Amino acid sequence: MKNQTPVALVTGGSRGIGRATSLELARRGYSIAINYHSRSAEAETLRDELQSKGHDAECYRADVGDREQVNAMCRTIESKQGPTEVLVNNAGVTRDVLFMMMQARAWQDVMNTNLDGVYNCCKAVSRYMCARKRGVMINIGSGSGISPRVGQTNYSSSKSAIIGMTRSLARETAPYGVRALTVAPGFTRTELADMVDAKAIEHSLSMIPLARWGLPEEIAEVIGYMASNDAAYITGVTIVVDGGRASGEQEFGPFAAC
Ligand code: NDP
Repeated sequence: MKNQTPVALVTGGSRGIGRATSLELARRGYSIAINYHSRSAEAETLRDELQSKGHDAECYRADVGDREQVNAMCRTIESKQGPTEVLVNNAGVTRDVLFMMMQARAWQDVMNTNLDGVYNCCKAVSRYMCARKRGVMINIGSGSGISPRVGQTNYSSSKSAIIGMTRSLARETAPYGVRALTVAPGFTRTELADMVDAKAIEHSLSMIPLARWGLPEEIAEVIGYMASNDAAYITGVTIVVDGGRASGEQEFGPFAAC
């Protein structure tokens, strides 16, 4: 084992919100385990960047939807880097299409990565955390899991399920001193959001009281705080970081009716 610095595993940790989270958790003193699926160059570049700043960081290829790959990755992290104290289940995909035209594959791909992936990673890591009576699992939900979005029945289902799963998981792990919570971002400037068409972007901005999309760093700072001891009394809840969109969509407007 390299050292006893606690490890933060960030799934999909090499780009978008995951990359910002890896950087934030490194700044907070964790060894970083960067999980990626397809883009090894991005993961290696981030690892090198973190190492050049004096942080401990390694990258691990694994499909979070594949239980065997996840188990092997988590075992390797424990033996190579140290004890996993923070898990950020960030990996996620969209396959947006109207429900009437949605093929089973688009449903299954999204559920496999977004929901089975969270199950696989929590399952693998929670037993280490509960045995050590220390750790926090932060699952990345979405505003789409809270309020409706056209063309996202698959994605919304996966993200709503994360909220329910996390609430129950938090009840089960609390006696071991292990926390679990959801951070639900609204629209955030990443490649995933680049897939949204221009009309939908315009519409989305009209629904956000703060009238702009979030930045990956703004989501990462909340994740970093939730991972820290300053948030030691917070578990089971969903922290929404969305510029106010979910605070009352129907009522939003300059002269909302009472
Ligand atoms: P990006 O599309 O920028 O990045 C997705 C990340 O997930 C990549 O690192 C990718 O790895 C990884 N990934 C995808 N599939 C798998 C898999 N099967 N196994 C392991 N890793 C995988 O996404 P964002 O940064 O925008 O989103 C991050 C999270 O935030 C997601 O859960 C998303 O649902 C959620 N979110 C995003 C919002 C937004 O507006 N951006 C809004 C609300 C929630 P690789 O590069 O190797 O393929």
